Amino acid sequence: MKQPLSLERARITEIFSSLQGEGPRMGERHIFIRFEACHMVCVYCDETGKKAREMSVAGVLKEVAKLEKKTGPHACVSLTGGEPLLYTDFLRILCPALKKEKWRILLETSGVLWRQLSEVIGVCDVIAMDLKLPSVTRQKCFLGEHRKFLALAKKKEIYVKVVISKDVDLREYEKHLRMVAQVAPRAPVFLQPMSRGKGVYPDPVLMRLLDKLQRTGAKRLSDVRVGIQLQKLMHIR
Ligand code: SF4
Repeated sequence: MKQPLSLERARITEIFSSLQGEGPRMGERHIFIRFEACHMVCVYCDETGKKAREMSVAGVLKEVAKLEKKTGPHACVSLTGGEPLLYTDFLRILCPALKKEKWRILLETSGVLWRQLSEVIGVCDVIAMDLKLPSVTRQKCFLGEHRKFLALAKKKEIYVKVVISKDVDLREYEKHLRMVAQVAPRAPVFLQPMSRGKGVYPDPVLMRLLDKLQRTGAKRLSDVRVGIQLQKLMHIR
């Protein structure tokens, strides 16, 4: 993926209207703004290699207004990626402009870049934060960054997403949930089955593992749920 642009332009792969597929807002109609770049390379990522175009804040606002007219009403504008927090210069201009139009803003993020979050948290209404387990992502451990991120994000409406694969390390899973219990014990946590390629979704064997992990997690936290990605079941974007 190319590096993001700063100032008033950003590389965007798509802007579209669809149903929110994850978390407590599943099924609501949102406008999605998908940013290109990401600082991570999760093994299950399906965003790499998508074509992007350089857009201005004005260009994005125009497309949002067009979609609202054509397919609205929408409940939120969801900033997704990639990693939207790589574009804080752009978001500092875009988000206040969206707020002026009375939009609610949902930020979908890897939950790692806490410094960048502190720059834009004031204009976000909902934060959907990932908790990245190294045994699943095949990346390094970000537990320290996740802790700082969650401590900031919990001031807003928040939910936490944990992608689970059959490779999940149970001790590592418990360690990450322990951190959530310490920092934001009332945050809803969604356990999502990993999907990759054209296999059956959701994989029944993996769902049985999620069932077990939900029971373990619910001993530590008040709200641990098994989640799915609606868009994968409905074959929509
Ligand atoms: S954080 Fe999200 S966009 Fe970035 S590599 Fe991982 S799955 Fe892909």
